[in-house]
Amino acid sequence: MNLKRLLRYLILLSAWLFAITPGYTAEAKLDWKALEDEAVALLSRYIQIDTTNPPGNEIKAAQFFKEIFDREGIEAQIIESQPGRGNIYARLRGNGSKKAIVMLNHMDVVAADAQLWKEPPFSGVIKDGVIWGRGALDAKGRAILELMTLLALKRQNVALKGDVIFLGTADEEKGGAMGAGYLVEKRLELFKDVGLVLNEGGYIRLRDDGKAPSYRVRVAEKTPLWLKLTAPGTPGHGATPGSNMAVNKLVAALNRIMQYNAPIKVVPEVQQYYADIADQEPEARRKHYRDLRTSLQDPAFAVEFTKNRQNNASVRNTIAITGIKGSDNVNVIPAFATAQLDVRLLPGEDPQTFIAELRKVLADESIKIEIILSFPVAISLPHPEAMKVIAEMAKAVDGGAPVISTFGNAFTDCHFFREKGIPCLGFIPLRLTPSEEGMTHGIDERLSVDKLKSAIRAMYEIVSNLAVK
Ligand SMILES: [Zn+2]
Repeated sequence: MNLKRLLRYLILLSAWLFAITPGYTAEAKLDWKALEDEAVALLSRYIQIDTTNPPGNEIKAAQFFKEIFDREGIEAQIIESQPGRGNIYARLRGNGSKKAIVMLNHMDVVAADAQLWKEPPFSGVIKDGVIWGRGALDAKGRAILELMTLLALKRQNVALKGDVIFLGTADEEKGGAMGAGYLVEKRLELFKDVGLVLNEGGYIRLRDDGKAPSYRVRVAEKTPLWLKLTAPGTPGHGATPGSNMAVNKLVAALNRIMQYNAPIKVVPEVQQYYADIADQEPEARRKHYRDLRTSLQDPAFAVEFTKNRQNNASVRNTIAITGIKGSDNVNVIPAFATAQLDVRLLPGEDPQTFIAELRKVLADESIKIEIILSFPVAISLPHPEAMKVIAEMAKAVDGGAPVISTFGNAFTDCHFFREKGIPCLGFIPLRLTPSEEGMTHGIDERLSVDKLKSAIRAMYEIVSNLAVK
């Protein structure tokens, strides 16, 4: 990365903030180097708190943060949705002349099989300049950046216009019902004057050679429609199979799903995304990306384009068969067989219309379809001021690297806020290559100490710019 540029940017920015903001003159000086070292130690400790979901046990993480906030004199509360499922909400007050900003992060992590890892996944060990452990990227590293922002604002006594809120949630990895979903449903007053939620999903993306930064801000996501299929049949002894067998019916129907591809559809957010990244693509692809909708009408290009899994998921509803169950006994023909489907819908799709289409594909009226999880469209309302602040950083630090609005095939907690009309943008100023980003949910998840350190001041600048100016 370009450290010199970053430094110059920070100096200019600080000088400018001092000049225009009267509150800044009374501030205490902050030792940023010490804050960076503190952040590294805190992330290591935080990773050691095992919040694998299920069961989550996020209360331990919430207590970890509560202790820090209490010590710093920052008002904070733990909100439990269920025993053990803690959420943490801390708030720094401004003068109320601007709307509040929520810095959102989830405290739960996905499971990690220690046998497959080079370092134990909950060790938080720091070795060769790298912090190891489940959550280093998703999303405990993010939480520490947000924590340091709050601490830096508080310790410097910065005069804020809008309140700044730190929100750590439970249960995101399992859909968020015990976390952000619970808070938005039961405690909406906590967000009543919130004008922006900053969350995961976007970052400063570098090519694998560490070059060509682009600032990626996630503004929209596909939505899940998780389904359970149940096929009924005549039960009996495995020695005397009949013609109406649950497992056979289910397998036949699933086979029809495997042959099915939902039609290609390019929604505006996706069209825009590919147009924005076109310039960074090899020459041959550029003209296709600039107008993806038209290009995909060419069947040869469509086949080529959708060979890539991310591309494919961006332009159609997808169905992944993720589980099948019949009898527990090898010699018993069960009365029911079930399957679970992870369906992901493009923005603007109606779940009921999709289910009607799926019914036709299954071509078996006896199979029951149940919804396990479904929620409405998740496109953010625009927030031009936040986009401008990020663009200014891209200009100053990376010579005007493009700021690209992206579209996520996976979902985050953002949709809970977007559904309530609160803009939610996915961005963190961490500089990651695709292979680093790919460690999310994978084996040997880890984060470089230098990258964490360099993102601390950047995160602070984004939030303070929005809350102070
Ligand atoms: Zn996450």
